[in-house]
Amino acid sequence: MPGYHPYSEAEAIELARSFPDVFSPEAELSCREIGDGNLNLVFHITEPATGKGLIIKQALPYVKVFGESWPLSIDRARIEGEALRIQHALAPELVPQVFLTDHEQAITVMEDLSDHVILRKGLMDRTVYPRFAGDISTFLAQTLFFTSDLGMSQQEKKLRQQAFVNVELCQITEDLIFDEPYREHERNNYEDAIADEAAALRADGALLTEIALLREKFLTRGEALLHGDLHTGSIFALPESTKVIDPEFAFYGPMGFDIGAVIANLLLNYAGQEHWSADDASRKDYREFLLETVRGTWTQFSAKFRTLWDEHGQDPVFSNAPGYQDLYLDRLLQDTIGFAGAKMVRRVVGFAHVADLDAIPDDAVRERAKRLALSIGKELIRQNRSFRSIEQAIDIALTAAAR
Ligand code: ADP
Ligand code: MG
Repeated sequence: MPGYHPYSEAEAIELARSFPDVFSPEAELSCREIGDGNLNLVFHITEPATGKGLIIKQALPYVKVFGESWPLSIDRARIEGEALRIQHALAPELVPQVFLTDHEQAITVMEDLSDHVILRKGLMDRTVYPRFAGDISTFLAQTLFFTSDLGMSQQEKKLRQQAFVNVELCQITEDLIFDEPYREHERNNYEDAIADEAAALRADGALLTEIALLREKFLTRGEALLHGDLHTGSIFALPESTKVIDPEFAFYGPMGFDIGAVIANLLLNYAGQEHWSADDASRKDYREFLLETVRGTWTQFSAKFRTLWDEHGQDPVFSNAPGYQDLYLDRLLQDTIGFAGAKMVRRVVGFAHVADLDAIPDDAVRERAKRLALSIGKELIRQNRSFRSIEQAIDIALTAAAR
């Protein structure tokens, strides 16, 4: 990393000054580092006089876990910057604009979205997002279709796969999602109250086989350029706007992994509503919104994806084969459901958790919510290969919550 060094706030301000379209000349600028400091620095530079701002994100060459530092290549900043550019080109309203990438300094300068709220927090506050299913299904259909063998030159795609080999961040996923939760591992992290559930996972042969099949898919199916970490902490939202950020896990993988991430995180919040909703009536209302969003995400995604295929399909063999599109989407739904289930389970027993569940203060309610998340997640994993309709996921969630 010749020349690389983590920026100070003063250096971030100096860099921000080179964007005259954003800030007035000689402007008084202030800077705050707003990242959690585990992986990346995120500088928020503002001009108080105009209210305008800019974000400078810089990768750190390590990740802090267990209070220790592990080396992690800053090449992920190049991957994130390039993925943001591709995604912005394909879904301009739904991805921040990138103004500058500097691979040596592992820096991405981008549009300031501070007027938005991280979706996970919005869902914990029970905000209703009427546009979200429409927006995220557009993001998914556009980015997945136009980076796949269906929607772009198959030769260009191979070259692009080369640029998105993301060894270290893929390994984090392979370990944390498709391995550690299903055996005893020092990084697993669950409370004693649900130790019985964790032990049951390790002993569930049918479940372990489904996880092996999902792991194999994640390792081998380079279908499209994925965001790779599309949870509700990587989405900024307002009721009238949706923006997808933070694609440092981007790589060529199975499309269902991204779609499943969205559905998993909606359902994790669904489980968390044991606490976040004050009473049964409001809980029922908000859960209806969440399930409607799960339904809309899949149904609108699949309709948009089919339209793109019909209008922009690049491969005549795929386009002319009778029934192939239906088979493709059937399989994609099944992948989506399997990955959604795996992403739910790991958030309860694995290393990294979600605030929707962990921030529940009452021990008994938190335990109930976690057991609910696990029972939905396990059922999705178990049944993934027999899914024919997203309605089966809605039924699983409703049945689990009624128990
Ligand atoms: P990390 O990969 O370290 O998790 P993120 O890209 O998720 O970094 O950014 C961390 C936090 O920084 C976000 O949760 C958000 O609060 C803030 N942030 C990131 N990008 C922007 C942006 N474009 N506009 C405003 N805030 C941002
Ligand atoms: Mg991140």
